[in-house]
Amino acid sequence: MSSKAYIERILNTLEEMSPGQDEFYQAVEEVLISLLPLLDEDSRYEAQNILERIVIPERSIIFKVTWIDDIGKVQTNFGYRVQFNSALGPYKGGLRFHPSVNLGIMKFLGFEQIFKNSLTGLQIGGAKGGSNFDPKGKSDNEIMRFCQAFMNELYKHIGKHKDVPAGDIGVGAREIGYLFGQYKKLTGEFDGILTGKGLNWGGSRARKEATGYGSVYFAENFLNKYEKSLKGKRCAVSGAGNVAIYTIEKLYDLGAIPISCSDSKGTIYHKDGIDLSTLKAIKEIHHTSLEEYARADCVCEYIPLSKYPEGGHAVWHLECDIAFPSATQNELTLVDAKALHKNGCILVNEGANMPSTHNAVEYIKENNILFSPGKAANAGGVATSQLEMSQNSSMSQWSFVEVDTKLQGIMSDIFKTAYETSVEFKCEGDLVTGANIAGFRKIADSMIEQGAV
Ligand code: NAP
Repeated sequence: MSSKAYIERILNTLEEMSPGQDEFYQAVEEVLISLLPLLDEDSRYEAQNILERIVIPERSIIFKVTWIDDIGKVQTNFGYRVQFNSALGPYKGGLRFHPSVNLGIMKFLGFEQIFKNSLTGLQIGGAKGGSNFDPKGKSDNEIMRFCQAFMNELYKHIGKHKDVPAGDIGVGAREIGYLFGQYKKLTGEFDGILTGKGLNWGGSRARKEATGYGSVYFAENFLNKYEKSLKGKRCAVSGAGNVAIYTIEKLYDLGAIPISCSDSKGTIYHKDGIDLSTLKAIKEIHHTSLEEYARADCVCEYIPLSKYPEGGHAVWHLECDIAFPSATQNELTLVDAKALHKNGCILVNEGANMPSTHNAVEYIKENNILFSPGKAANAGGVATSQLEMSQNSSMSQWSFVEVDTKLQGIMSDIFKTAYETSVEFKCEGDLVTGANIAGFRKIADSMIEQGAV
C-alpha cells in the first residue's frame, strides 16, 4: 500500500471511530498528512502499524466530579485524564477547566502534547486532562471545593513516575495549590505530582513566564534565520491569560511593540503598546474582563465581540508585522489569514494549541508568511515543567536566570530540530512538516524498540 493510501485509511477509520470529535480529527489529520515524506522513505512505520497505534490513547479516564456550591446545592461535572502515549517517559500535560471541555478536546490536546513533548528533547510522554467546570463567576471556596473533588478521583491515576499534570486554560497557580493540597491530604505524601506549584513548596522560578517567553524566543530564532528580528516590530497578540501576558512582557524586553490582547468578550487595540501592569492587574489580580482596561485607559480602542468581522477575530484585522495567537483553538480563520496577509504580516507564531484552522495554515504557507506551529513554539511551558520535576527530584531550586537560560537553550534547540528536519525533507522553512516529523520519529522509534505493548 502507498504511504498516501495508508494515511487515508487511518484517517477514514478514525473519523468513523470518533464521531463528533472534530478538533481531535483536525489535529491528527494535520500531523499524519505531514508525515508522508517520512513514511515514503521508511517502511518500518507501516510494517509496525505505528499510525494505528499512535492515534489511540493508551488510557482515557472519565469520571464524575461531585461538589457543593456556596448555597449548599450539589453540582456535578465531568472529569477527564487522557494518558495518550508514554513511549518517551511519564505522561505530562496540563489540566483545562472550561465549559467547552469534552473527550474530543482532551484527545486533541493529548495528541498534540505527545509531539510537543518529544520535540523538547526531554523524557516525557503526552497526556491532557480537565473538566467542563466553568471557573468564571465561582467564589474562591467553590473553586477550592471543586479542585478537591476533582483530585479525589485523579489522585488514583497520577504519580511522579507515572503522570504529572500541570495547568492550562482555567487552571493557574490557585487551582494547582488546591489540587496539590488535596493530593497530599489523600495520600499523606509530599510528592512532585503536579507542576506549576507555588515557589514556597516546590515550584520552579520562571514556570509562570515560560510558555509566553518561550513563544517569543522561538519567534526570534525564526526571524534571525532570515536576518530579521523582533526589534521594532508591531505584534498582534490574542488572549489575556498566562500565555498572552508573558508573551507581551517578553516582546517588550526584545524591543517589539505588542499592540493588542483579547478575551472571550472582546479585543483591546492599543497602538502605542499594551499597558502590561494594567493588564496584569485586571487578569491576574481581579480576574475581570478587558472592558476594565478600556475604562482605565481611554487612549485604547475596545472592540466587543459584536463588532468582530464575520467569520473572523478582530485581533487579526489590525495592522501588524507579527501575529501571536495565544488564546485558544481555531481562533485564527481563513478570513483572518487573508487580512494578516493584506496588512503585511511576516510571521504567525502560535502560542496557543492549534489556534489556526487548517485552511488558515494552508493559506499562510501558500503566501510565504512564516509559520511557527504551536507544538514547537509553545513547548517552553512543558519544558520548564520538566525542569521543575528535575529540581523536585534533586531537592533544589534554581535561580530565575538559570531556568530562563535553560529555556532559551531548549527553544533554540526545538527551532533547530524543526528547521533542520524541514531541510532534510526538502521543504526548508516548513516547520509544520519539520516539527511533526522530528517529534514523530522519536516516539515511533521508541515504540518499535519497546515492542507491541
Ligand atoms: P488562560 O490563562 O486561561 O487564558 C486563556 C485566554 O484565552 C483568556 O484570556 C480567555 O478569555 C481566552 N479564551 C479562552 N477561551 C476562549 C474562547 N473560546 N474565545 C475567546 N477567548 C478565549 O490560558 P493560557 O494558559 O494562557 O492558555 C492559552 C492557550 O495556550 C491554550 O490554547 C493553552 O492550551 C495553550 N498553552 C498553555 C500553556 C501554559 O503553560 N499555560 C502551555 C502550552 C500551551 P477570558 O479571560 O475571557 O476567559
